[in-house]
Amino acid sequence: MNKRVLVKFSGEALAGADGYGIDTQILDYIANEIKELVNNNIEVGIVIGGGNIIRGVTAAADGVIKRTSADYMGMLATVINGIAMQEALEHKGLNARLQTAIKMEQLAEPFIVRKAQRHLEKGRVVIFSAGTGNPYFTTDTAATLRATEIDACMLIKATKVDGVYDKDPMKYENAVKLDTITYDKALEDHIRVMDDTAIALAKDNQLPIVVANMNEKGNLLKIVNGDYSKCSIVK
Ligand code: UDP
Repeated sequence: MNKRVLVKFSGEALAGADGYGIDTQILDYIANEIKELVNNNIEVGIVIGGGNIIRGVTAAADGVIKRTSADYMGMLATVINGIAMQEALEHKGLNARLQTAIKMEQLAEPFIVRKAQRHLEKGRVVIFSAGTGNPYFTTDTAATLRATEIDACMLIKATKVDGVYDKDPMKYENAVKLDTITYDKALEDHIRVMDDTAIALAKDNQLPIVVANMNEKGNLLKIVNGDYSKCSIVK
């Protein structure tokens, strides 16, 4: 049986230097990294955030837009990113399918886990968008949920940092990267890289979360092959 993984990219990761919108060169880089996995017979699901376009909490901050509406706007942002990701993967010659947790059938398939499983078995990359379909959640939680549903062996959270540190590496020069961290410790410390709801769900389902630097070329494949030097594992 092929290995199956779920990779989560934040929306911000797509934004490039502007901090907003979609940088197609970054998309192209990500598509290459995913292609490496697929070429090595790894089945890949992807969840992308929407923070490069809109975040519910921020959009609702002054009370003009209600939180639930702002969250739906955030979920739609992940669909925009998903469409872009699907294009970038197909541009590399991969087969990709976009699924949405909120029905919009002109654009994408609705999320149906059995259909997703079938796509994955056939070597298609499945992009799960619109989060969980519910307000008050994050795409980290959506990624944990989807990873569990598709029986992924791990959730790789692709970030801009090398992993989880004992203190903020931006503030403290002597911060040390932790190779492994237990779910309980991650929850106790409220590690910033992943929200508590997502960690609790991963703990309940014994899903390892690998926090890895996406800018380290080849890192995703290394991790799937058991080289954990450039990441931290929450398990
Ligand atoms: N969101 C939501 N329910 C979900 C997933 C996401 O309401 O299940 C909304 C929420 O407003 C969130 C936004 O979509 O702020 C974008 O997702 P997120 O902030 O997780 O994106 P990222 O930080 O990964 O770019």
